[in-house]
Amino acid sequence: MPSPVPDHEDVLPDAATSPIYQPQAQDERGSKVIWRRSAPVPRPRFVDVSAALAGIGFGAVVASVLANESRGALAAPGGLLTAIGRLAAFTGAYLMLIMVVLVARMPWLERAVGQDQLLRWHRKIAPWAIGLIGTHVVAITLGYAAADRSPLLHEVWVLIRSYRDILAASVGFGLLVLAGITSYRAVRRRLRYETWWVVHLYLYLGLALAFAHQIVTGVSFVGHPLTRALWITVWLATAGLVLIFRIGQPAWRSLKHQLRVVGVRDEAPGVVSVICQGRDLDHLAVSGGQFFQWRFLTRDLWWQAHPFSLSALPRPPYLRVTIKATGDASRVVARLRPGTRVAIEGPYGAFTHHARRTDGVLLVGAGVGITPLRALLEDLPEQTDVAVVVRASTRAGLVHRDEIAALVKHRGGRLHELVGSRHGVRLGARHLRHLVPDIVTRDVYVCGPEGFGTEIVEMAGKLGVPPEQIHVESFGF
Ligand SMILES: Cc1cc2nc3c(=O)[nH]c(=O)nc-3n(C[C@H](O)[C@H](O)[C@H](O)COP(=O)(O)OP(=O)(O)OC[C@H]3O[C@@H](n4cnc5c(N)ncnc54)[C@H](O)[C@@H]3O)c2cc1C
Repeated sequence: MPSPVPDHEDVLPDAATSPIYQPQAQDERGSKVIWRRSAPVPRPRFVDVSAALAGIGFGAVVASVLANESRGALAAPGGLLTAIGRLAAFTGAYLMLIMVVLVARMPWLERAVGQDQLLRWHRKIAPWAIGLIGTHVVAITLGYAAADRSPLLHEVWVLIRSYRDILAASVGFGLLVLAGITSYRAVRRRLRYETWWVVHLYLYLGLALAFAHQIVTGVSFVGHPLTRALWITVWLATAGLVLIFRIGQPAWRSLKHQLRVVGVRDEAPGVVSVICQGRDLDHLAVSGGQFFQWRFLTRDLWWQAHPFSLSALPRPPYLRVTIKATGDASRVVARLRPGTRVAIEGPYGAFTHHARRTDGVLLVGAGVGITPLRALLEDLPEQTDVAVVVRASTRAGLVHRDEIAALVKHRGGRLHELVGSRHGVRLGARHLRHLVPDIVTRDVYVCGPEGFGTEIVEMAGKLGVPPEQIHVESFGF
């Protein structure tokens, strides 16, 4: 009896016969047959407007705190320290909200900026936000101690016992510090990703615990119902964004598409493709080069989401990712059974053809980093002049080799395969210019291990490629 689950060979047959590798189909009048929804165009202007609004918000926060200070209050014992503490509290809390918004996974921000850049901004702001909140804790305690003329430790005790919600806020502060410490590169490297992630989730709890004491004791709010209402609205809006885009939308999307694994195929040593089947994938707006967070709903993996890039554009009803075994989860993926349910979150990333500034591209990939380039190659506009450089230590390690060759050939592009150890086959700036002499006139897309991306970016810069023409997707964290 034939299996109800289609074999993966039926799903993605070889490059010569599968329509996925052919030019887009045409109807009888010669128009393109659109068999899937194309992804919305990123809007950088939205990012500028958001940044301007964030700046105005920061100014408003500073102004509302300063407006509540008076010469008399500042001159009183501990007055200056208390004022510094208040200013630090509100600016620190505001920066915390900005950090949360940056990682709220809002689709338009993700598309325009890319998750890696958003994470970089989030990390850059973090020390300032935690530092300001730390300053608030120290300055307010010292200021109140000076005002009460009481010893410091006694004042700490008084604050916790007599002021509403300060105990909860203190616990919240402890959680923020813990999340901050575990995110320092040196500490983070020693932790499992999942441990870091769970600790990081406490950040949300920390913020929730700290919220009430601001509203109840914040001088800017006591007697100022409008300012209080505005501040509450900003916090609720931030919480709403997180709930909608980190929980609601992914849950809705996963329920809508009902993805299930239909096959796992060996691609290269330690590398497999996972092919999933789902409903309504023609409505899944995604660009080649983007990634999703994948949650394979098995007993061991359901609680972890991992980023994997599509290795081919959706071919409704199928989706494909190609995964290298680098750790616990990615190793288990090779043993996924057909029928396993899959939840997705995304698509994310700005590593798409929309980022292009020119009509020519150079795609450079190494190892499993070749996979998003494979999908990007398929998604580039028809007239794009394509050059591709892929490298791996062995020929078998050139993931999707035949598919890439077929796609490059179809576009009349050039493909360079570099096979051998890093020392045996060196890819330096001079070699790169030799392979692609017109590199400066192209957009350079790079994907591979973290060190590889950095090297290629440096080389491209040395060869004169303008920074805005260089696009990198790093698989490192
Ligand atoms: C944008 C992006 C796209 C990616 N696309 C692909 C792809 O198409 N194919 C592929 O094989 N790999 C891809 N990766 C890498 C892949 O996500 C990791 O190899 C995988 O999550 C490792 O999980 P693990 O539990 O097997 O390994 P672990 O041993 O837990 O971790 C190995 C490394 O992966 C990092 N990592 C682990 N879990 C996560 C996570 N949830 N999010 C981010 N980093 C994590 C760890 O910090 C560590 O550096 C991509 C990574 C990113 C950031």
